[in-house]
Amino acid sequence: MVQAPNVHDAEPIPEAARAEIDRLLQSGDLFRYTAPENAPVSLLEAEFAEMMGVKYALAVSSCSAALFLSLKALGLPRDSKVLIPAFTFAAVPSAVVHAECRPVLCEVGDNYRIDMSDFAAKLDDVQAVIISHMRGHTSDMDAIMALCNARSIPVIEDAAHSLGTTWNGQKIGTLGKIGCFSFQSYKMINAGEGGIMITNDAELVASAIIMSGAYEHNWNKHSVLKDVFPAIQNTLPLYNLRMSNLSAAVIRPQLGHLDRRVNDGRANHDHVAARLNTSPWMQVPDCLKPEDRAPDSIQFNLDGMDEDERRAFADAAAAMGVKVQIFGLSADNARAFWNWKFIPDLPADLPSTRAMLMRACDVRLPARLTRAECDFVADALITAADQVMGARRAYGT
Ligand SMILES: *Cc1c(COP(=O)(O)O)cnc(C)c1O
Repeated sequence: MVQAPNVHDAEPIPEAARAEIDRLLQSGDLFRYTAPENAPVSLLEAEFAEMMGVKYALAVSSCSAALFLSLKALGLPRDSKVLIPAFTFAAVPSAVVHAECRPVLCEVGDNYRIDMSDFAAKLDDVQAVIISHMRGHTSDMDAIMALCNARSIPVIEDAAHSLGTTWNGQKIGTLGKIGCFSFQSYKMINAGEGGIMITNDAELVASAIIMSGAYEHNWNKHSVLKDVFPAIQNTLPLYNLRMSNLSAAVIRPQLGHLDRRVNDGRANHDHVAARLNTSPWMQVPDCLKPEDRAPDSIQFNLDGMDEDERRAFADAAAAMGVKVQIFGLSADNARAFWNWKFIPDLPADLPSTRAMLMRACDVRLPARLTRAECDFVADALITAADQVMGARRAYGT
């Protein structure tokens, strides 16, 4: 019999990382700017930019750091308003606050995607937009880019959890002015911690490079037009958000595994989604037509259950070894906007996003799970819902 799968461990790091890590440990060469050229971090940047089909990549300490540097590199004055979806991870409004800007929250619908009428209504008042492809769900990027381009509002894509997703065949993270990705352990590529930002804008990346910690003339070790730098040298603070060579050595051999992970993750997701959709109590929202997803988790809405039943459902699934987080019902959830009390003028309510969070479930479904393990997860969820709702109907309440 299949056991409840461990959904928290990542895949082993490819064997190829070992020789390079040994070499780095031998030489002690862990700082990205020590070697005259070809430091692992620089090689990662070149490989990632090529993989994504963009001119520039800057590797940093986290996706949060990439988002922060993106806002700073846009030169947004203090107290600029930045529109973000109200369904995202607390790191996103935090990056906005860190950049001394003010987050404006946009409503999200029950399909986890940005509510375009609320987005359009709030757009005239903001100086930048961060589109968080939360849990890899892609909002209507055609509409978003058309609205933002018409107003010359820069779009930063928070693609932390969307590496490998495409929209109309175009790679997510390359649609906006800047794309930011995470290498934290729960993402497609795992270095424990790490992030990277991509762009085709030389001046923007040059500012970000300096602020990431390329002090003095270390920008010489980046493959960006050198004539951009003298004008900004010493005009920008150094936030020191660099990536270490060890992280790059862990990431680089994983790039070649991305396509397989994306395909496996999508197959696992679609298999479990089809099974959950056979239950009258669960519904997995469809993605938008132009999107090809790269999921490593599954989200679904509970239908026809009151709050006690939704809690009982999560308990019943947990008893079978499958952890379900209902975003709005788990204490202190970092994805529930009402917990972001650090935001100045946190809106009193966002009814559509709140309603979604109160019945939307989150279950990890890593790409490495076998079909039998995926079926274990689906069986547990379907059985848990039937147990809770069957009991309710038996008592006729
Ligand atoms: C993980 C995640 C982040 C934060 O990434 P870090 O690298 O941990 O800073 C931001 N946004 C989304 C949507 C994420 O999933």
